Amino acid sequence: MSSVDKFIVEPSYGYTEHSGKANKPTSKEVLKELLGTINVFKPVNHTTAFTFFYHAAVFCCFFYYLFVYLSVPGAIYGIVILLLFFQIYMTMFSHRYCSHKAFRFRNMIYTKLFLWTSPAFYREEVFVVPHLVHHSITDKPGDPYGAHMGFFRSYFAWELTQRINTEMSEKNYEFLIKYMAHIGMKTNSYKEFKRTGAIESNYFVRMFVAHSMWLLLSYFIGGFAFVFAWLSAAFLFIAILRSFNWYGHNGMKSWLGGKSQDVDRAPHAVNQWFYGYFAGEWHANHHLFPGSANTGFTNFQIDIPFYVVKFFKKIKVIDSYIDKQKSYNNRDRPQLNTMDTPIDL
Ligand SMILES: [Zn+2]
Ligand SMILES: [Zn+2]
Repeated sequence: MSSVDKFIVEPSYGYTEHSGKANKPTSKEVLKELLGTINVFKPVNHTTAFTFFYHAAVFCCFFYYLFVYLSVPGAIYGIVILLLFFQIYMTMFSHRYCSHKAFRFRNMIYTKLFLWTSPAFYREEVFVVPHLVHHSITDKPGDPYGAHMGFFRSYFAWELTQRINTEMSEKNYEFLIKYMAHIGMKTNSYKEFKRTGAIESNYFVRMFVAHSMWLLLSYFIGGFAFVFAWLSAAFLFIAILRSFNWYGHNGMKSWLGGKSQDVDRAPHAVNQWFYGYFAGEWHANHHLFPGSANTGFTNFQIDIPFYVVKFFKKIKVIDSYIDKQKSYNNRDRPQLNTMDTPIDL
């Protein structure tokens, strides 16, 4: 196994069987692991448990909205917010910028503006670090999400297989700090990291600021109905995002418009119209060229996050970006099984 595995915690049921094949834990083992990781009384668990209970809370808000406040203007507002979450904060910022450095902001102020308004209720580190492992050992035992884990384990991957390993060496911790320096997070010392389980030191302050801003804005636009529409969008965002890791890696062939004829068979990532149009995530293309700010390589693959990147470049918020369109056009078809170098380690 690659050394990057040490960045995240192996679940107690293990990645592999004695034969070396990916382990298929029983439902009881998985449930036991899940309940263990959301037990807030265990030290360092709060980073995982917070996200889980946040999702449970917005789940209740979603139903409250449906029964009390549901209206056409509120629903339209919720859908606009949902698109904003996916296209801009998730795909453009968390995925292409934070994880892959596919473009560069002209000034750290712009980076911080995205960071401090981000309504992503998972920590950036909890996205970026397991994602580094994902691209390094895609579809193999130890890959923290994907179809090889089955739907349930992939859906709860944040709790089961994406926990940051507080036992990692100081050298590895320093590597991660440097690896994420471009995000502009205030980080903990190694000692504090071991005590708290968190790389970012002021995450809760940042979440408080982002939520206050979004909820106040929603209130001024449409009162409590819009506040709950926003919270409903927050719930749907996470619910859909969790499901992506299974569907996006061909968990169910041709479901949601999955297309595989265009791409290699390893990794199992697929281009799907649903996540493509909804989130700008053409995932098979992304696995071919992970560092590209553009993933909409063919005619009908609309990539809104990339159009926004180009717009930001025009107005000088972004300095430069990587576009692998030419490499895609010139790729050698017989060698489609060869992945582009995943990530600089
Ligand atoms: Zn993937
Ligand atoms: Zn990626």
